[in-house]
Amino acid sequence: MSLVALSAAIILWPSPPKTSVPASTGVMPTLLKEGWHYWQMEEKVKHQVQQLQSTMAPEVEPQPLDDRRRHYAIESGDSLSRIFSKQGFSQQQMHQVMAADQSLLALDVLRPGHTLTFQLDDNDQLLSMELFVHAGNRVLYQREDDGEFSYQELLNPGEWHSETLVGEIHGSFYVSAKNAGLNDAEIATVHQLFRDRVNFSRDIQAGARFQVVRSDNYVGDDATGQSRIEGIRIFNRRQQLTAFLHDNGQYFDAEGNSLQRAFMRIPLQREFRISSAFNPQRRHPVTRRVSPHNGTDFATPTGTPVLAAADGRVVRVENHPFAGRYVEIQHHGNYKTRYLHLDRSLVRNGQRVERGQRIALSGATGRVTGPHLHYELHVNNRPVNPMTANIPLAQPIPDEGRDAFFERVAFMIKQMDEETLLAQRH
Ligand SMILES: [Zn+2]
Repeated sequence: MSLVALSAAIILWPSPPKTSVPASTGVMPTLLKEGWHYWQMEEKVKHQVQQLQSTMAPEVEPQPLDDRRRHYAIESGDSLSRIFSKQGFSQQQMHQVMAADQSLLALDVLRPGHTLTFQLDDNDQLLSMELFVHAGNRVLYQREDDGEFSYQELLNPGEWHSETLVGEIHGSFYVSAKNAGLNDAEIATVHQLFRDRVNFSRDIQAGARFQVVRSDNYVGDDATGQSRIEGIRIFNRRQQLTAFLHDNGQYFDAEGNSLQRAFMRIPLQREFRISSAFNPQRRHPVTRRVSPHNGTDFATPTGTPVLAAADGRVVRVENHPFAGRYVEIQHHGNYKTRYLHLDRSLVRNGQRVERGQRIALSGATGRVTGPHLHYELHVNNRPVNPMTANIPLAQPIPDEGRDAFFERVAFMIKQMDEETLLAQRH
């Protein structure tokens, strides 16, 4: 007998500018405060890069299409080069747009569902191009007076709606979790979180119960497709496995012990001179335009082994005219790392990697003045300074935000238990 609860208790984490919370949710005042705290943390991270641009998002009104404005829906297998030639734009224009995209690399992962909107000038030359990734994430590339392109991120953090899913494990955890409504990425996260504590293929007893609080991101009524696990409990034999997401992007158990394996501060076997530091406000020496440096450059000679900063999965191995050959790794929690200007990648897309594993040899590919490794760390999809960021160190929960974390855990556990009771009555 498998019990799967489909009823969703939706909590609206408050987020400006809409600060009202439906009265019917019955959320305690302290929790409201926590919702705020959570939101503010995310905003702080986001705003580290481009504060002005971020606040512009709601201002931009969609304009009607005319012969100066074209809309293009990305098809599977599309590349920017193919799209530009189909649209009749020159390769030079494409390179100018890609130069502007070097610090974002948003155009390297065009997928069906994304759209491009081109605005042309009177000579049919490209004036601007907007990439629509989802309702909360658009990027506008614009031609400047000097003919070069600049970019603006039009971000809207939206709101996170959470729901509680409960079930029992029969057969594999994968199938049971899937039946309860979790997606593949979320199930992989659960496996990774508990992999030091339980062997899912061997140690799970039939009938073990699980409870998950999962939230989805919305901008207005539009789901952005982003989701995350806020909390999970698995009751297996006499063991209780717990994991809760803290507002620093890391997971801890219900007692506040870290579930994250430590990150390496520097993805190299030894220290190298920093040839250029992280600087979101960096300006182009000639144009004075803001041209953020979203990573840390190490003066590594070509051929220096580059190591994965933490366990994760390779999600990109790409060649870019300016970023060169590069690798991107998705880590669990809300962390991502990027390694640019590589001579050679030693991994392939989709591959699982371990902390400290050799993933590449550094080089001087792309637009560089000399060989170096450009290393980026992203938290909640925003680049942060890898040398000073609060990286997971596999230590217990920090004092800052500790009380808030336990309050939120208590609230989620209450939700989980109520949902389980509901499901058992059905
Ligand atoms: Zn760099």
